[in-house]
Amino acid sequence: MSIAQNLQKILAELPEHVTLVAVSKTKPIEDILEAYQAGQRIFGENKVQEMTDKWQQLPKDIQWHMIGHLQTNKVKYLMPYIQLIHGVDSIKLLQEINRQAVRWRKQINCLLQVHIAQEDTKFGFDATEIEKLLHSEEFKSFQNIQVRGFMGMATFTDDPTQIKAEFTSLKNIFDQYQNLNLPNFKAQILSMGMSGDYALAIECGSNMVRIGSSIFGSR
Ligand SMILES: *Cc1c(COP(=O)(O)O)cnc(C)c1O
Repeated sequence: MSIAQNLQKILAELPEHVTLVAVSKTKPIEDILEAYQAGQRIFGENKVQEMTDKWQQLPKDIQWHMIGHLQTNKVKYLMPYIQLIHGVDSIKLLQEINRQAVRWRKQINCLLQVHIAQEDTKFGFDATEIEKLLHSEEFKSFQNIQVRGFMGMATFTDDPTQIKAEFTSLKNIFDQYQNLNLPNFKAQILSMGMSGDYALAIECGSNMVRIGSSIFGSR
């Protein structure tokens, strides 16, 4: 099947309220253009340099999402064009995003990455750290950041029971913050689910899925 066909098939399966981020990391410009011509506008990348190169070459109505681990020294390169940073996993990173956003006089949309997997290789805050952060004075000072919700990745396992438990723990955090409205925080987006587990993620309450290999083929 072609990229366009893969895309149509996935879009047909997604409920209306679920946003698709087409994960194009490692894939060439031509592949992204094929998805673009099929109507896709939101693309996700996990490396700053690669995403910036693609942004320069591709149509400017593409919305670029940073889905990978972001180093503080790379934040500045995203400022001209970034639509949403999914993997915000430390206060240090929030400080740098805010600092750059102030310089650029922009509001930068972010998701807080929550550590839900049992593996310790995956980045993110835990529930207690989120609680502390969102109620801190420092968080209020991040006036050029808009935290729009949460992102998480389940453990890489075949066990759907475990994946479901992890997604559910993130959904519970998302629900818990529905009533917290700060000038720079509103829990609207719950980014969870990849090619292997997006159906389960949606069942558990995801409203944004990040799908790569099921659209573009394996990497
Ligand atoms: C690569 C990646 C994806 C997409 O993975 P697929 O299995 O190819 O769908 C989603 N989220 C993150 C954070 C990724 O790094």
